[in-house]
Amino acid sequence: MELSNRQEQIIEIVKANGPITGEHIADRLNLTRATLRPDLAILTMAGFLEARPRVGYFYTGKTGSELLTEKIKKFKVHEYQSVPIVVREDASVYDAISTMFLEDVGTLFVVDNNACLTGVLSRKDLLRASIGNQDLNAIPVHIIMTRMPNITICFRNDLMIDAAKKLINKQIDGLPVVKEKENGLEIVGRITKTTITKAFVELIMDEH
Ligand code: ADP
Repeated sequence: MELSNRQEQIIEIVKANGPITGEHIADRLNLTRATLRPDLAILTMAGFLEARPRVGYFYTGKTGSELLTEKIKKFKVHEYQSVPIVVREDASVYDAISTMFLEDVGTLFVVDNNACLTGVLSRKDLLRASIGNQDLNAIPVHIIMTRMPNITICFRNDLMIDAAKKLINKQIDGLPVVKEKENGLEIVGRITKTTITKAFVELIMDEH
């Protein structure tokens, strides 16, 4: 985040004199405590300063990029996950391709009769099945999908950074967000490269 001149001045004062009370900082800047209050609140919330009751303000010693890193590391999957799009195992390749276009997604998840995760379909899986002149209505997706237990998954409370690492390490575009239930894994969300890009953009916009 960009700091104002006054906020930079406050940090310098606290760095040199901390612990120091808000009143003493205000004196040094010839300002009132009330004028300074919003700046102190911002600096404390952003993590540059730490406020201890009855003691005063301390400089945390953390740089802007360290604080940004700390913030990114805390992002959770459930804060960014999008809606999962699923097809049933007996759906045809033709149906899956139609669903991909209609729902505007690049990865579909496949479920059994209990709505539990059994597979994943990517764009290339469907392209591969479409090459050659087979009747796409006659091929069920369970024949061509990547199937359990070889599906890379994540959970709602996982960290986004761990989900992002899985996408990179496994060279895949998306992960189902799942919840364990008695007969398998229920799909509750979707994390994709787009989700990560959105989180990245949101972070930068928030900083301004
Ligand atoms: P594309 O095929 O469009 O490049 P991906 O890179 O996501 O898309 O998929 C590559 C392969 O990995 C496909 O065969 C797909 O079925 C499989 N795959 C995709 N997502 C997962 C996942 N979460 N777990 C396991 N395999 C996956």
